[in-house]
Amino acid sequence: MLIRMKLALYNHLIMYSRHKLPDEACGFILGESADFGYQATYLVPIDNVSPCPQHQFLMEPSQMMKALFSPDKKIIGIFHSHPLSEGIPSDEDLQSHWHTLPTHWIMSFQTQQPSLSIFHIKRAPLTSPRKLSFEIDQ
Ligand SMILES: [Zn+2]
Repeated sequence: MLIRMKLALYNHLIMYSRHKLPDEACGFILGESADFGYQATYLVPIDNVSPCPQHQFLMEPSQMMKALFSPDKKIIGIFHSHPLSEGIPSDEDLQSHWHTLPTHWIMSFQTQQPSLSIFHIKRAPLTSPRKLSFEIDQ
């Protein structure tokens, strides 16, 4: 499975996450199924209302519900950033119910250069993240 996105979306992910530092940013990725996997189109930013926003994210409920139940938008993934840690799902990420979405996107700012990783998280019988390939198109 391959994920493709336009450079504009990739830049939006970096700019939005950077703007939210030192807190974690979060949101949904919209897109379409394709023969190669998924074509990602837009980020829907959602406010992080966690009491410890530098270490976890909790989506603002009304924004989250609006995005989840909008009939004209297809959500293909969940997105969040890791301001200080590497771009792999934390234990909390793995235990969340977001594995129900096909892709899990993490933008890490652990190093100078932001780096994006995309996973498919399989829940049963063992929770396991599988790293997905992605391509950025002009
Ligand atoms: Zn995380």
